[in-house]
Formats: sequence, C-alpha cells, structure tokens
Amino acid sequence: MASIQFSGIAKDFGDTKVVCDFNLEIADGEFVVLVGPSGCGKTTSLRMLAGLEKPTSGRILLNGVDITHVPSKSRELAMVFQSYALYPHMSVEENIGFSLSLKKMPRAEIQRQVAAAAERLEIDHLLARKPRELSGGQRQRVAVARSIVRQPQAFLFDEPLSNLDAKLRHSARIEIRKLQQQLGTTTVYVTHDQIEAMTMADRIVVMEGGRIRQVGTPMQLYMNPNCVFVASFLGAPPTNCIKGEVRHADGDVLFTAPGLSVRLASHVTDGPATLGIRPESLMPRTDNAHHLHLEGVVRFVEALGAETLIDLGLSSKAGSEAVSEVTARLPGHHLLSAGQVLPLSIDRTSLRLFDKSGDVIEGGIAGAPR
Ligand code: ATP
Repeated sequence: MASIQFSGIAKDFGDTKVVCDFNLEIADGEFVVLVGPSGCGKTTSLRMLAGLEKPTSGRILLNGVDITHVPSKSRELAMVFQSYALYPHMSVEENIGFSLSLKKMPRAEIQRQVAAAAERLEIDHLLARKPRELSGGQRQRVAVARSIVRQPQAFLFDEPLSNLDAKLRHSARIEIRKLQQQLGTTTVYVTHDQIEAMTMADRIVVMEGGRIRQVGTPMQLYMNPNCVFVASFLGAPPTNCIKGEVRHADGDVLFTAPGLSVRLASHVTDGPATLGIRPESLMPRTDNAHHLHLEGVVRFVEALGAETLIDLGLSSKAGSEAVSEVTARLPGHHLLSAGQVLPLSIDRTSLRLFDKSGDVIEGGIAGAPR
C-alpha cells in the first residue's frame, strides 16, 4: 500500500519537452487515471513512476520516500503493459509465479499463491497453457494475476484494455475496478479512453501537451470543467462547445453565437468566448421563466433505446436562419425525425463560459452561482 507524489516532474527527450511541471499527490488506496489524447505524456509519466524512464527534473516519492533514483526492480510497483509482456515460452502458471521464483520462494508456496491469484481472476483452468493458446482477454487476466502475486505497493496499468473488443473491455474494466477495491491497492492507470477514465477512477488527471489540465473526481470534471479542452474531452457525447462573442449592449452583457444569445454576469469582458452546454442540459421546453428557451431543428437522430442522441441546429427564434450545431441527449421515448422543430429549454446554471484562451470564467452566466 502506498501514497505517491510527483513533485515538479519534467521530462525532455532531446529538445522535446514531453512532460512539464507535473505535480500530483495520490493517496494510499486511490485509483487515479491519467487520461488524454495520444502523445500527451501519460505513458512517459507512468514509466517515470515505474523507474523505466529518468525524469529530467523533479522528484517522485513513495510513502514519503524519494525514489527518483531507485532502480525499477527495487520499487515494488507492478506494471501491467498494453502488450501484457507475458513470457511466450512459459506456461500461464510459470508466468504468474515468475516473480516469486526469482525471490526463491519455496515451490509449494508459489503454487499456493499462483492458484489463489488464478482462481481470483478465473483463469485456474488455463494454468498449463502457453500465452499463444489464450485469447486477448485471458492474456490480460494472466498479466493482472502476475502483478497481484507480487503484492506490490501499487499497480501501474498502461492501456491494459486497448487490445480487447468493446464488450470485453466493458467487463474487464469492471473486474479491474472490483479487484482493486477488494485489494485496496493504490493504482495509477493510463488510458486515452475517456469512458474508462470516467467509469474507473476515484480521480481523473486530464493531460494535454505534457501538462496536467485538471484533476478531480469524474463528476467534478464533467460538471465543472476548468477549460474547453476538458469540457470537450469528457462525456459521451462530450459537452457542446459553441464559439461566439461577448458584447456589452443596452446595459446587458451578452454571449452571442449564430442563433443563440445568453445573458452573462456584469464582470465578463468583451471578446471571443466559448459556451459549454452539456448534451443532457438541452431539455424539452419547460415553463420555467429562469430557463433559456430556444428552438432546435433536428438534423440527425440516433435512437439508442434508453436515450436518444439528436444533432440539432439551435436558434433562439423559430424560423431564424443562423444556427449553432449541438448534440442533445433526450430520454429514449422521444421519437423524432430530421427537419422537425423542437422547442427546448436550458437551465442557465448548467452552462459554462470559457474565455478566449479556453479557461473557464467562474460565475460568467447571469443568474448562475459564482
Ligand atoms: P499514447 O496514448 O499514444 O501512448 P501518451 O500520452 O502515452 O500517448 P507518451 O508515450 O508519454 O504519450 O509520449 C509523449 C511524447 O513523447 C510523444 O510525442 C512521443 O513521441 C514522445 N516520446 C516518448 N518516448 C520517447 C523516446 N524514448 N524518445 C523520444 N520521444 C519519445
């Protein structure tokens, strides 16, 4: 069990700054997911924690002890790689027990521990097989079993589910999360898949271009993204980010985009801005006077059963030509077809306003709390 701290970590490969100013504290037993687009530095950050890559500057602490220069094999951290890195010539049993045999543990004890891990991962019937005789999902379980027999201070996962098909990924992410909760082992998990991040993490670290953009629980990040990048990265579908302008006019401050006008708080200054509307914030017309009321022309409908995703052209007046394109998520019973005009409402407090750099403007929407 372990707490982990990254303090001022940076990593350069030649002239390229791959990770910059990376500061993060992970509590004992926490499941933290590093998520971001390809090349944002997630794997490099994990590899520095594992001791497979040396930071250019900064320190990494495990339980308060500086391990920045401790060799990888002495860190007591178990890494599960995307490729699983199983030994092809060894059986499943030998693969799982390999780290224990290196420690010169008695054979009977190794067998007992391997059997216990294999049973936990439901691969006890596969112990005699070689990795090539296993499916992708079974290999992934062997890799996890191999890491749990080591009783590591922490699990480090690098995209462990990316070789599995969508259905298996779904069950595997639930299994990994359950296993981690049973064992209570601190876990750092890297993925580019925002659904894995949202469903598995205690806390998510969103990275972009080698930097941390935001850290928080899945709900904190989804409900209160601090920038356009986080808003447009998380959620399926993600928050609609509509580009527009802020203008003072007739004593009011307005955000305007094609077919859309939203009253803002008085402290917001003029200039380009982006409005964030979560897909579920667009709801069938209400009679609440505090809500924003507008029309949506249906462009495309995806009926998913329990819910319906609708691509809409938004406008503040029926028949208005200028529109902003958004996706709405409505309950599944809404039967709609392209061209239909849909009266909609939005609770203003669910909107987020971002400045021209993409950073959130706290309390930017009139009538919404600061
Ligand atoms: P992905 O999801 O594609 O694995 P990532 O967020 O994990 O991406 P990293 O693998 O950490 O990204 O790579 C970050 C950047 O560092 C990339 O631009 C990559 O090309 C570069 N990089 C990684 N390893 C090396 C290396 N050994 N030498 C030079 N550049 C490297």
